[in-house]
Amino acid sequence: MPRVLLLLPTTTYRTKAFVEAALKLDVDVVAASEQPSTLLDKNPEELLTLDFGEPARARRQAQEFAERFPVDAVIPVDEDTAVVAASIAEALKLKHNPVDGAIIAKNKHRMREVLSQSGVQVPRFWRFSLDEDSREVAARVTYPCVVKPVFLSTSRGVMRADNEEEFAGVVRRLDRIVSNPKVARRGGVLAREALVEEFIPGFEVAVEGLVTGGEFRMLAIFDKPDPLDGPFFEETIYVTPSRLSSDVERRIIETTGAAIRAMGLTKGTVHAELRVNEHGPWVIEVAARSIGGLCSRALRFDGGISLEELIIRHALGEDVSNIEREAQASGVMMIPIPRAGILREVLGVDAAKTVPDVEDVIITAHVTQEILPPPEGASYLGFIFSRADTPDRVEAALREAHSLLEFIIE
Ligand code: ADP
Ligand code: CA
Ligand code: CA
Repeated sequence: MPRVLLLLPTTTYRTKAFVEAALKLDVDVVAASEQPSTLLDKNPEELLTLDFGEPARARRQAQEFAERFPVDAVIPVDEDTAVVAASIAEALKLKHNPVDGAIIAKNKHRMREVLSQSGVQVPRFWRFSLDEDSREVAARVTYPCVVKPVFLSTSRGVMRADNEEEFAGVVRRLDRIVSNPKVARRGGVLAREALVEEFIPGFEVAVEGLVTGGEFRMLAIFDKPDPLDGPFFEETIYVTPSRLSSDVERRIIETTGAAIRAMGLTKGTVHAELRVNEHGPWVIEVAARSIGGLCSRALRFDGGISLEELIIRHALGEDVSNIEREAQASGVMMIPIPRAGILREVLGVDAAKTVPDVEDVIITAHVTQEILPPPEGASYLGFIFSRADTPDRVEAALREAHSLLEFIIE
């Protein structure tokens, strides 16, 4: 039986979906995470503790493990584990993204440099340090602009500023966010580095796909029908198939493929975000991972294949290029956090579940949990899923279900 090494950060929601896919495929799974598991003694060939924060060490740990239990593929489930995964795969001589490509994908400034040098359309950008005089930086940039840390994800710390005065306020806020000790540790040498970009107006899409031998294959384009104009950029609705014209879709796919080549990504999953306006598609980012949270449930392929199953088969070298997404329209709403506070009660879940075309409503936040919207926070209250004949109906069902939910926040 082939064996795959799954890199699972402790915060991931994806373990179950990957383990189910592996069971269905008769593939052995090794779940690697940072926390030593209490089950470790009993299942040494199924559980592995890896120091994701120290890639060189994690690489050695994985190598030692693979000497006893040979590994056929390494799969990172999120962005933070993508670089470690590339490094481990390199050590084990498995086909995977090169480490450099994974590093570029994780660093928003490096990504901008590489893409602009290759002629991929990206916003104008300026790097600065949070230790610089922000008034001097403010005078260098054009407005409106978007300020962001180079190393975080989930729109954390991403803020729009329309003039120099707002810029100063936004930079102070970003400074507070990255000064949180946990965040600073995660950022390491990059924690004080920031990026400011020109704000690109337009319609946003997310693109999910697979890369094989450096060639990109689109699995799905999701429309993001809620306007993402700032000042903060919380994700909400994703709907596929896209309602854009096939010509625009083709250009989105071409641009994503060009970005992937420029970044040197060669094998694995990608999740890209682009904005489209009269100047064509602009790359916001290309992450070397698959869609996050529970959102992968919105994707289903021929014969009921899950995204996780497709990812495992692809990682093991199988040709999955003929497997297509189902014909139905599908979508997910990442339920946004209306305001900061303590979550006391969630009402209306049963009613929301009965909305026609709604498949499921899953609340992932816990009662008594402190919840925080972006730019400080980086989570959602939960997820709503819908499938229907058309993307319009999916979007309407998601909105209706959401309108029936009530969150009591103190
Ligand atoms: P993260 O890695 O945290 O998701 P992104 O760079 O993808 O950060 O930014 C998050 C969101 O902010 C994007 O999906 C987009 O809606 C918005 N955004 C980021 N940069 C720009 C930009 N230059 N112009 C317009 N919107 C942007
Ligand atoms: Ca990102
Ligand atoms: Ca993003």
